[in-house]
Amino acid sequence: MNKFYANLKQKALLNKIIITSLILFSFVIFNFFYSFTLNFKFIFFFILYLFIGYDIILITLKNTLKFNLLDEKSLMFIATIGAFFLKQYFEAVLIFLLYQIGELFQNIAIFRSKSQISSALQIRPLYANLKEGDFLKKVSPLKVKPGDVIVVKPGERVPLDGVVLSGGSFLDSSSITGESNFLSVGPKDFVLSGVVNISGALEIKVTKKYEESTVKKVLNLIENVSSKKSKTENLIKKFAKIYTPTVVIAAFLIFIIPTLLFKEDWHVWLERCLIFLVISCPCALVISIPVSFFLAISKAAKNRILIKGSIFLEMLANVKTAIFDKTGTLTKGKFIIKEIYSLNLSKEEVLEIICLAESKLNHPIAKSIKEAYGKPLNLNRVEKVKEIFGKGVKALVDEKEVFVGNFKLLKEIGISSFEEDELGTNVHLVVEGKYCGRIVLQDEIKTNVEYALKNIKNNGVEKIVMLTGDKKVVGENVAKNLNLDFVFCELLPYEKVEKLESFLKKRGEKEFVAFIGDGVNDAASLKLADVGVAMGAIGSDAAMEACDVVLMDDDINKINIAILIAKRVVKTVKQNIVFSLSFKGLIFVLGIFGLTNIWLAIFSDVGVSILAILNAFRAFKGKF
Ligand code: ADP
Ligand code: MG
Repeated sequence: MNKFYANLKQKALLNKIIITSLILFSFVIFNFFYSFTLNFKFIFFFILYLFIGYDIILITLKNTLKFNLLDEKSLMFIATIGAFFLKQYFEAVLIFLLYQIGELFQNIAIFRSKSQISSALQIRPLYANLKEGDFLKKVSPLKVKPGDVIVVKPGERVPLDGVVLSGGSFLDSSSITGESNFLSVGPKDFVLSGVVNISGALEIKVTKKYEESTVKKVLNLIENVSSKKSKTENLIKKFAKIYTPTVVIAAFLIFIIPTLLFKEDWHVWLERCLIFLVISCPCALVISIPVSFFLAISKAAKNRILIKGSIFLEMLANVKTAIFDKTGTLTKGKFIIKEIYSLNLSKEEVLEIICLAESKLNHPIAKSIKEAYGKPLNLNRVEKVKEIFGKGVKALVDEKEVFVGNFKLLKEIGISSFEEDELGTNVHLVVEGKYCGRIVLQDEIKTNVEYALKNIKNNGVEKIVMLTGDKKVVGENVAKNLNLDFVFCELLPYEKVEKLESFLKKRGEKEFVAFIGDGVNDAASLKLADVGVAMGAIGSDAAMEACDVVLMDDDINKINIAILIAKRVVKTVKQNIVFSLSFKGLIFVLGIFGLTNIWLAIFSDVGVSILAILNAFRAFKGKF
């Protein structure tokens, strides 16, 4: 929902509540001095009743027409009609008034957490400097079209995705990717929206409209968080579907049986029936459970963890197997060149050709080699690049067929005489069918991984697994250093998916499997796992779409924070369910003995809802 609109709706609701309360209060005062006629009272309260509750009435009537009759609103509606029959007009208005107060509480909680999420991220660009002739015009990013040229000055946020036309600068992408290294950009470089320009002015040709830009996609993730409802929420909904009609029938029987069969006074039994209706209203659950999940999701967002729906929180709380990708997830994915071996060519040539072949790929190996090479590349020398997933790449470099990749790739193209360094990732080069040499790369384990994995185990995860396409020696070495439970090496991307599937098959009920990857070649696994966690994947559409949780930082320990938040929300929801059911049970028992009245029932219903919401607020106060 639009922020402005949401705000407006809240204000209108608040005003309605204040006005109604003031009028009710004045009535009580005037009632001391005048005795109003019953007719006057009826008209007066009926108008007030329509004023405070017309939306509830309309929704109930609409639902009735659509034959999906009964939700908690209808219970309230029926109760108010009963109150009118008993000539308890004041109470009828009060029922709606207090219901609306509960509603307001819920709106505020949701609105607050939503705006907290977006301000925590602070990536929404407010304007773009659109170039029109020689002039710059400040416009909304929504107004800029692909092909337009914009200028981003130092200190400003890049509002739309595009390509640099002129200028050079450093960009700080930490708000988007969490990595705090500055990226140097110049002409022809691609820039993502949301990053901050640090040093020089940049002229950028826009390539995507705002709706499709990176920053909008991240914001969408946040704004549509609750699209996948948790099992508890769905259960409560289903429960309410059976529960509410049952309550209405029971209430009807409470009224009918004593009055018709035993000729009791219908006033007494209609009142009891109303009390029963109000007590039975599931408001506290229907309101407090979604609010709790919402608060949890916003708490996570504050920690730069985006969770796409409450169902994933529920599963995160019960993850028993965590499966990690190696490169870029457990290791830095920033390879250092340890050694270059060459045959027939010079070492520089080997590096240059490999670099050219890799120049268009997004794989951590490709990126690292490009960075290590450091010199500008003439991209016109490369054509027909084809990534061979889990093996390497094929391309035409200077019109010669070039293969770059690991031993599997060499086997596949029939080259058998080559050497490899045991430890280290070997990237071989074959030009026109001739073996020309290799470079040996080495990756490092991320600094805090050991600590993070220990925490993950303390948080109830039983098995930690690593899957990698890398060589056995390299993978097993990492696994040994990190004390992992299982490691599987030399897997092709589809084999990783199969391994994941086998873990999914083995899991018990209420035991979930999480897959944590960096989004490079592992979208399928992210999608297949119960909870797919993408690390620093902003910018990769496939990963952002496939995953359920995005860690905006490159920090594995954020998984622990996500699990802690998940466990907290599950616990809070359980507390609220137990609390509201037992409280209502108590009032119900009092009701049976005739020890309660409508007022007490109304206040207890709204009171329980508000207490449950406050309990959720309490659970997510403070730091994680
Ligand atoms: P990981 O499971 O470690 O993320 P991948 O499945 O992406 O690894 O790749 C597996 C192996 O395939 C790498 O260790 C490397 O040997 C080889 N490989 C993949 N892509 C490339 C590439 N662009 N250049 C060279 N080798 C590559
Ligand atoms: Mg990978």
